Amino acid sequence: DTFDAMGLQENLLRGIYAYGFEKPSAIQQRGIVPFCKGLDVIQQAQSGTGKTATFCSGILQQLDYSLVECQALVLAPTRELAQQIEKVMRALGDYLGVKVHACVGGTSVREDQRILSSGVHVVVGTPGRVFDMLRRQSLRPDHIKMFVLDEADEMLSRGFKDQIYDIFQLLPPKIQVGVFSATMPPEALEITRKFMNKPVRILV
Ligand code: AMP
Repeated sequence: DTFDAMGLQENLLRGIYAYGFEKPSAIQQRGIVPFCKGLDVIQQAQSGTGKTATFCSGILQQLDYSLVECQALVLAPTRELAQQIEKVMRALGDYLGVKVHACVGGTSVREDQRILSSGVHVVVGTPGRVFDMLRRQSLRPDHIKMFVLDEADEMLSRGFKDQIYDIFQLLPPKIQVGVFSATMPPEALEITRKFMNKPVRILV
C-alpha cells in the first residue's frame, strides 16, 4: 500500500513526501481513506503508530481552501501535544496553503484572538482554551465540519469531560467526528455513543 493509492490531492501528497514519509503506517493504511470520505472514525491505537498524520491528512484533504474559516477543530490533552499537532498539520499542508493555529493555555488570549480573527482553516488546542475562545466568540463554530479528539482517554483522565461536552454543544450538529485513543474506558465509549454516527472502528 502507498500514499499514492489513497486518492489524495497532489499538493497533500507533496507535503507528505516532503515531510519524509515514504510509506503509510498500518493505522494510516486503514484510517486515512475512511476519514477522507467523511466517515466518523474511532481509532484505538497507541501513540507512536502514526495517528497524527492520519487525522491531519484526512482534515487537509477535505478543507475548502477558498474559505478562510475554521472548518476543523482538534482537541488534545496537553499544550505540548497540541503544538506538536499544529506543526505536523502545517508541514503536511504546506503546499495547500493551510492556516493552522494552536489555542492553548499559558499563552496570550489577545494573541489567540488576533490570529483567529485574521482567519484560519484549522484550530488545534486544549479543551480549556478552545472553550474559552468559543465562549468569547473569537472562534466561530459555524463552518466547523470536522472534530477530532486526540488521546481521548488521556483528556478524560485529566478531567476534561465536561469541557469536551460543552464544546460539542457549541458545534454544528452534523459534523464528522474522529476519536483517537489508546484505551476505551467507559467515558470514552459514552462519547462515541452520544456524538458519533455509525463510526468505523479501527484497532491497531
Ligand atoms: P504519532 O503516532 O502520530 O505520534 O507518530 C509517531 C512517529 O512516527 C512520529 O515521529 C512520526 O513522524 C512518525 N511517522 C508517522 N507516520 C510515519 C510514516 N508513514 N513514515 C515514517 N514515519 C512516520
